[in-house]
Amino acid sequence: MDLTYSAADEAFRAEVRTWLEDALSGEFAGLRGLGGPGREHEAFEARVAWDRHLATSGWTCLGWPDRYGGRALPLLQQVIFHEEYARSGAPARVSHIGEELLGPTLIAFGTDAQRERFLPGIRNVTELWCQGYSEPGAGSDLAAVATKARLEVSRGSTDRSQEWVVDGQKVWTSLAHVADWCFVLARTEPGSQRHAGLSYLLVPMRQDGVEVRPIEQLTGGSEFNEVFFTGARTDADLVVGEPGDGWRVAMGTLGLERGVSTIGQQVGFARELEGVVALARHNGSLDDPVIADRLVRARMGLEVMRLNALRTLSGAPRQARGPDASASIAKLVWATWHRRLGELAMEVAGPAGITAAAAPYDLDAWQRLFLFTKADTIYGGSNEIQRNIIAERVLGLPREARS
Ligand SMILES: Cc1cc2nc3c(=O)[nH]c(=O)nc-3n(C[C@H](O)[C@H](O)[C@H](O)COP(=O)(O)OP(=O)(O)OC[C@H]3O[C@@H](n4cnc5c(N)ncnc54)[C@H](O)[C@@H]3O)c2cc1C
Repeated sequence: MDLTYSAADEAFRAEVRTWLEDALSGEFAGLRGLGGPGREHEAFEARVAWDRHLATSGWTCLGWPDRYGGRALPLLQQVIFHEEYARSGAPARVSHIGEELLGPTLIAFGTDAQRERFLPGIRNVTELWCQGYSEPGAGSDLAAVATKARLEVSRGSTDRSQEWVVDGQKVWTSLAHVADWCFVLARTEPGSQRHAGLSYLLVPMRQDGVEVRPIEQLTGGSEFNEVFFTGARTDADLVVGEPGDGWRVAMGTLGLERGVSTIGQQVGFARELEGVVALARHNGSLDDPVIADRLVRARMGLEVMRLNALRTLSGAPRQARGPDASASIAKLVWATWHRRLGELAMEVAGPAGITAAAAPYDLDAWQRLFLFTKADTIYGGSNEIQRNIIAERVLGLPREARS
């Protein structure tokens, strides 16, 4: 695999770097380093404005086809953008669920009318989205979804047009409290079971039938929520794919989770690791050979992750990689690495890791990292689920018993 960048790629990198430097030195200078998992509450409105500034300057939806408002950039240039974005310290995006999950799902499975209606709002960051899959009884076992939806004649309709009426509860819905819309997996065929009879509905959040209750996290923030649908309504044509075929569409979206932006994520990880090394140098724990050894191992792990991500993105022939579980391998590796980094940060911090310096006794960056990285090995498919996938699809081990 050739890992060298062409002159055009290097020119693109310089363009991105210059644009970000300029953009982050004026009005948006204060946003560097803000937001991200566990810190979504930070400067939220200002980050929406930042995302809109990116959009008007042509830096959103880089991989989307140009007929849908994207830039159809080659994969390597998307990687370069995410690397430079992370390196610049630009704030975490607020519109990533729409841009990375729903938008590509609509491009792959939606109707022209759905694309025309929703893609501009995602691209221009005028409508924010959340993902309504998990339920109290359906997480790893997503096919156990119990939220129901049925078609009814629309309220006040004179032409007997229909709409979906949704009842049920979702949980862990990230950013539901700020979202305008939710893509909801719901059971639309009464009596259906498991993967059959589900539909993928686009439901407006700002209506009487939707109640959002924030869940307070270990870190003190509340960036995910319980969402209750009680007679919530959405138009009959806002189903993606055929009614009853929602499982296929939902799996299509899951396949998109953690795409090219994982490379940028790794640049962020590298910065965190540098911070832990600096802390170890500062408080003398770098002299402890066990700590020094673990820091070196963390650095090596990061490099392995980077090379593996590049290998996956480079599209090495499928037969060379074996059965495709690359997304599961990448998720298992980065989530475990990141959780261990949080643990290592606490060891490096020593007693300071379990105390707060002064009122108002906020968590410091390392305490927050330690606590939030517990979530990494759960969301987007837990480590155990990723191991099951690897065991069954790559190693050919017997399938686990399923109900
Ligand atoms: C930070 C965060 C953000 C999230 N955001 C969203 C969101 O925006 N939208 C959304 O829909 N969901 C979201 N989720 C939910 C997430 O997808 C689920 O938490 C995840 O799928 C696990 O489901 P669960 O929590 O119900 O745990 P369970 O499925 O109940 O699992 C509990 C434990 O049992 C293990 N386990 C389960 N089944 C098996 C098995 N077959 N073999 C071995 N072990 C097993 C799991 O690994 C886990 O350790 C988010 C979660 C987190 C933590």
